[in-house]
Amino acid sequence: MSLALTGLGATSGIAIGRVHRLTPGELSIPEYHIDANAVSSELERIERAFERGEQFLAGLLGRMESDLPDTARDLLQAHRLILRDPLLIEGTATRIRRERINAEWALVQQTDELQAEFRSLDNDYLAQRREDLDQAVGLVRRELADQPAVLLSTHIAHRLEDTIVVAPELGPADMTVLAERSVAGLITEHGGPWSHAAILARSLEIPMLVGVHHALDLLEEGEPVILDGHYGAVLAGEDESLLAHYHEKREAGRRRRIDLQRYLARSSITSDGQPFVLTGNADLLPEFQRCRDAGVEAVGLMRTEYLYLNEVLPDEDSQYQAYRAAIETMAGRPITIRTLDAGGDKLPAMLAFAKGPNPALGLRGLRLSLALTDLFKQQVRAILRASMHGPVQILLPMLTRCDEIHQARGLIEQCYRELQAEGLAPDPDIPVGGMIETPAAALAADQLAERLDFFSIGTNDLIQYVLAIDRSDELVNHLYDPAHPAILDLLSRIQQAGLRHGRTVTVCGELAGDAVTARLLLGLGLNRLSMPPATLPAVKKSLIEASAEDCRQIVGRWMTTTPQDSGQDLLEQLQRGR
Ligand code: PEP
Ligand code: MG
Repeated sequence: MSLALTGLGATSGIAIGRVHRLTPGELSIPEYHIDANAVSSELERIERAFERGEQFLAGLLGRMESDLPDTARDLLQAHRLILRDPLLIEGTATRIRRERINAEWALVQQTDELQAEFRSLDNDYLAQRREDLDQAVGLVRRELADQPAVLLSTHIAHRLEDTIVVAPELGPADMTVLAERSVAGLITEHGGPWSHAAILARSLEIPMLVGVHHALDLLEEGEPVILDGHYGAVLAGEDESLLAHYHEKREAGRRRRIDLQRYLARSSITSDGQPFVLTGNADLLPEFQRCRDAGVEAVGLMRTEYLYLNEVLPDEDSQYQAYRAAIETMAGRPITIRTLDAGGDKLPAMLAFAKGPNPALGLRGLRLSLALTDLFKQQVRAILRASMHGPVQILLPMLTRCDEIHQARGLIEQCYRELQAEGLAPDPDIPVGGMIETPAAALAADQLAERLDFFSIGTNDLIQYVLAIDRSDELVNHLYDPAHPAILDLLSRIQQAGLRHGRTVTVCGELAGDAVTARLLLGLGLNRLSMPPATLPAVKKSLIEASAEDCRQIVGRWMTTTPQDSGQDLLEQLQRGR
């Protein structure tokens, strides 16, 4: 091996192939003043460029509509909306008229101004919108330079099965074309694991590393590389033994995944005869399909934030269509739809005004919904209408107080009555549950249980709030400790409160989707787990092979003695089963 580069794995997984450098080539931006009599032709040029850019996206959408995951479709639509935005189009035209400058220059100035406005709001979500704006405007610039955006799809080898594409960054349109050509892996110099491209790579299951600085300078066209998403590493150069090792590792991963599939057909019973229930987490339609194919008995968590990612907030009807499609895919198996959990690190642009000085402790989740009751009612109406097509439960995120449940239930009741008055017949007994993911909710679980029909434990946030570690801050990631006595104590309390009040308790945070921490949860009596469909087979195998009683004893011993060892030891004991 001659070179090792590091970045962040947007997806785990290994890709092996040869480098194809995707350098769209920086377009030079001519800047010049124009005569008064050239203004109208310059206006025509820019108008045509906007139209062509939009037509390119429309064509892409039309060609691949049925193959695209929802996220890709939504992003391309968002880019189309940007290219129709009057602020951008009119603002550029006004500059051409007023300042008598050429179209390219006017476009750059107008984009810069919009970017500056976004930047001044200092918000992660808007940082993403800046990326979208750049990508959409990039299409128009290509049109102005007579180098239309079809470049990417026409200049690239048709099949990319053995190719690892390296690019400065990738937009949704690029991702769509690359996925269509079955690219083996992706490396970008910029972008984080929550960029749109990374989200798409995960939903398309393409190994990808982001933030690999100077990758284009350091990797040569055609050079053999290994991409290890798990360790966030790119290993370049001819090294037969390393290559053989990774071929074997990739094959072993593939065999393991295939082998694990057989556990899906087995009964959900531990080795000592205790039943457990595994359900799926799904947001996008392909994930619901995977849940159904995996034979889960329900979807335990549908996050709905992704519906709100576009430039405009979704209306009741588009939400209803999304929920209905999910319900129909699950064909009679219940879906727990969580109401909007905006805030924290995911705040739609349209709700940017709700960002406070500390978003994780701000107007997040149900708090925001109760501050914007029209928005909440619109979502509830959509869910209730969808309930006419199959079983649904409503889940309220980020609870801390009983009166929040009271208010939410009041609004749900109002929506129900409105729909009835409109002649519709939604499910009158739709269960309403709550996310137990704040210390307050965990400690007041008994009181909350009296007002809720079920509990869903969000371990991602519970750990964040109890251990005071921001889940998006890599500097404190090492303090993330599911075996911390405070976490174990609270999880056990929540489970007991659920039991006392006859409420089902499902764990839907990341702890549920890991083969070892699933045993930890089992040891606490938490035997209903909801997880991304890709992790179902490994978790099921782990629980089938575990003894619930042994897990209970290991965890009980750990909680009653003062452990000298780190939480890692507890996890190792659980993995060994003793
Ligand atoms: C959680 O907090 O564990 C959870 C499932 O919700 P999210 O990750 O969406 O905050
Ligand atoms: Mg949460």
